[in-house]
Amino acid sequence: MPRAFITGITGQDGQHLAEFLHGKGYEVFGMVKGQNNPRLTQIREEFPFIEPVPGDLADLPSLVKALEATQPDEVYNLGAISFVALSFNQAELTANITGLGVLRMLEAIRMVGGAQNNKIRFYQASSSEMFGKVRETPQTERTPFHPRSPYGCAKVFGHDIVVNYRESYDMFACSGILFNHEGPRRGMEFVTRKVTNAVARIKLGLQEELVLGNLDFKRDWGYAGDYVKAMWLMLQQDAPDDYVVATGETHSGQDLVELAFAQVGITDWQQYVRQDKKFFRPAEVDLLIGDPTKAHDKLGWEREVDFPSLVKMMVENDLKIESAKLGR
Ligand code: GDP
Repeated sequence: MPRAFITGITGQDGQHLAEFLHGKGYEVFGMVKGQNNPRLTQIREEFPFIEPVPGDLADLPSLVKALEATQPDEVYNLGAISFVALSFNQAELTANITGLGVLRMLEAIRMVGGAQNNKIRFYQASSSEMFGKVRETPQTERTPFHPRSPYGCAKVFGHDIVVNYRESYDMFACSGILFNHEGPRRGMEFVTRKVTNAVARIKLGLQEELVLGNLDFKRDWGYAGDYVKAMWLMLQQDAPDDYVVATGETHSGQDLVELAFAQVGITDWQQYVRQDKKFFRPAEVDLLIGDPTKAHDKLGWEREVDFPSLVKMMVENDLKIESAKLGR
């Protein structure tokens, strides 16, 4: 039975990946930080097959102990301070966890013996936020980085250190440059889920308005369930490499809002939406659109869920959750 060790197990991608690997017959270990982590209870209930392992990306010895205890074949580093807006307020913490955390994990793999025999395969969750103020459109594996947030800067460090360790120590280390990926498990702080949840609540009469920041941006949004397959595929290749994972389509903030309201039959959505400066960021990423040709050609990866189906899935899920709270 192959063994996978996942950081960020309580997050959206950790849950999708754990489910996917379990389906493939893996033994799945999930790193959980902190004492009495409240999200662990939910993970235990929903995913009883995940074996929780204590550890923290800020603490190298804890990573070494976790790898010694679990002896994984594959390590997926999905753990991070992942919310761009928060990274402006907690820039040092973001650099430490999202950036240096990658270095610590690579070192931990080398220390428990992965480097000598190239045994442990490593996946790093790189991000389209590294492209930031984009230098070319669409963005590929060769597009230069120009991050626009402390989060983006930390991800660039993580990405570059993976390349450096691969070249320096012959490690099987890959980075997936994943464009925004969403779904019913997305945190409420991200714009897609904030919108779909508000739309459901407005429809049910639980909320009167939706307050957002800048809507004049474009994103290449895909479904998280599709994207975790690309992570796994990268680690099954003969040689390690980096891949853009994206849909190749882009949609504006306004498209998202319009489509989500339309899903519940509301066409005059402007009536419910207000913009507030507090949700604007000090620097914005205006346009992201990825070119997934390499992932298609080399990994055989294809997205299955398109943007309208993704929005539909998320609105329907939020309607179900919010209706259940009302006892309907
Ligand atoms: P990101 O691409 O990783 O930053 O993903 P987010 O979902 O957090 O944000 C996507 C875009 O939505 C950014 O350009 C934000 O500025 C914009 N946005 C506008 N209003 C909001 C809001 O209320 N919350 C969030 N999270 N983003 C917003």
